[in-house]
Amino acid sequence: MSYDVIVVGGGNAALCAALSASESVKKVLVLERAPEDEAGGNSRFTAGLFRLAYRGPEDLKTLIPDLSEQEIANTDFGTYTEEQFLDDMARVTEYRCDPDLTEVLVKNSLPTVRWMRERGVRFTAAWGRQAFKIGGKFKFWGGLTVEAVGGGPGLVESLTQIAKKAGIEILYGARALSLVADDSGVHGVVVKHQGKTKTLSSKSVVLAAGGFQANTEWRTRYMGPGWELAKVRGTRFNTGDAIRMALDIGAAAHGNWSGCHAVAWDRNAPETGDLAVGDGFQKHSYPWGVYINADGKRFVDEGADFRNYTYAKYGRVILSQPKQFAWQIFDAKVKAQLRDEYRIKQVTRVTGNTLEELVAKLDDTDQAAALKELKEYNAAVQTQIPFNPNVKDGRCTTNLRINKSNWANTLDTPPFEAYAVTCGITFSFGGLKINPQGQVVNSDGGLIPGLYAAGELVGGIFWFNYPGGSGLTNGAVFGRIAGASAAAAATGR
Ligand SMILES: Cc1cc2nc3c(=O)[nH]c(=O)nc-3n(C[C@H](O)[C@H](O)[C@H](O)COP(=O)(O)OP(=O)(O)OC[C@H]3O[C@@H](n4cnc5c(N)ncnc54)[C@H](O)[C@@H]3O)c2cc1C
Repeated sequence: MSYDVIVVGGGNAALCAALSASESVKKVLVLERAPEDEAGGNSRFTAGLFRLAYRGPEDLKTLIPDLSEQEIANTDFGTYTEEQFLDDMARVTEYRCDPDLTEVLVKNSLPTVRWMRERGVRFTAAWGRQAFKIGGKFKFWGGLTVEAVGGGPGLVESLTQIAKKAGIEILYGARALSLVADDSGVHGVVVKHQGKTKTLSSKSVVLAAGGFQANTEWRTRYMGPGWELAKVRGTRFNTGDAIRMALDIGAAAHGNWSGCHAVAWDRNAPETGDLAVGDGFQKHSYPWGVYINADGKRFVDEGADFRNYTYAKYGRVILSQPKQFAWQIFDAKVKAQLRDEYRIKQVTRVTGNTLEELVAKLDDTDQAAALKELKEYNAAVQTQIPFNPNVKDGRCTTNLRINKSNWANTLDTPPFEAYAVTCGITFSFGGLKINPQGQVVNSDGGLIPGLYAAGELVGGIFWFNYPGGSGLTNGAVFGRIAGASAAAAATGR
């Protein structure tokens, strides 16, 4: 069996790569390790949020043609310029993000999502998660405005249907094992499908099989002691196979191998993601409350920045707390503002009508220390500064060991609630090195003919932290580029 392009993986990056390749070549095959009912990788677990640069509602209308004049009048979409996106990437990655790849990511963010729209993927504005209504008008904050209709499941379903209509073959339950390669480059993939190992040949290969976060042994080996204790938020199938396959034939290892995207995740969530709950185990409303650890102490500035710029690094902070967990504590004043994930059935929550009553229910925790800490926090809030969730309001605490910089509300209105969270890992940051055309670089600095990569398994783009909604954009932008490059190479080989 011979193909023009074989794509390894079945998520957003892989399907975008396959679609893009199919615009120039006929025989495109997608190998998806998961069975069909679990297919779609981490992409399927997402809310479908895409970070992209836009100049205002006129750009958004090209992605969301049914955005009405009334919706535009009732919403302050603001702008999110390429400069802001570049600045956010540089700032949150502590200026380590690869400048060439980051520029490609940012400059292609809007055109790529527009291409997806033209191919048939539908988008809407993320009013529910990324905007607050104040004075009768929604205002978007944090550079994240667009989501796929139907979230991650809608995105994967839509891309899959479009791919099938384009004549792309998708093989489910097909685990790529190794690359067929010689001195002249890559010529195919060895795959195990329905218990049988076969060799499939192709003119080029795109690797888009996700990171290694679901591989407990690699996680501990590369991220360090304690990472075997993290929960995996998404698919159980991203165990680093494609990274290993490429390293085996001489690809360079690149990027932040000890780093990852990791968030606050329900303490009693299952070890790997549950598609029925999706991203519902996450608990992202901590900027409106306070964190307390098992020693009864606050340990992080919950209001350091908008949630989009802190949530992906705070999972690691929670993992490093005693017993690897923490409580998020809120009072009734912010209840209406808590995200929908706080209202799911599978939540680890205790409530109390006084702080004393609440604290008495905090299992595994130094309750006396917790009560003292909460009272000291309450006394330190600068209540003369008005609270405003749409801006970094500067409503802070003063003179605490760890201050809260914004959105500091006193905990004074019952009922009080506490949610137990641990660390949920989203994806690993280390992986392969690619050039701006999506071609894989070898450990001598040369290019591997016929081998391309995109998505989570590419290293060098995200370090330490990540601006929310960049993962899908990253997969789509580099998936599209890698697919086109792989197809061009296939026609020239
Ligand atoms: C709960 C959750 C919520 C998230 N929310 C968002 C969000 O709203 N916005 C955003 O931008 N990002 C979000 N992310 C991050 C985002 O999911 C990823 O950055 C992105 O989906 C990665 O896309 P990908 O195609 O590279 O990988 P994936 O979508 O994970 O796809 C990898 C694919 O490779 C397959 N595979 C693995 N090994 C093999 C093998 N040996 N052979 C064949 N196939 C293989 C897997 O089965 C899978 O289909 C979220 C992640 C999670 C877990």
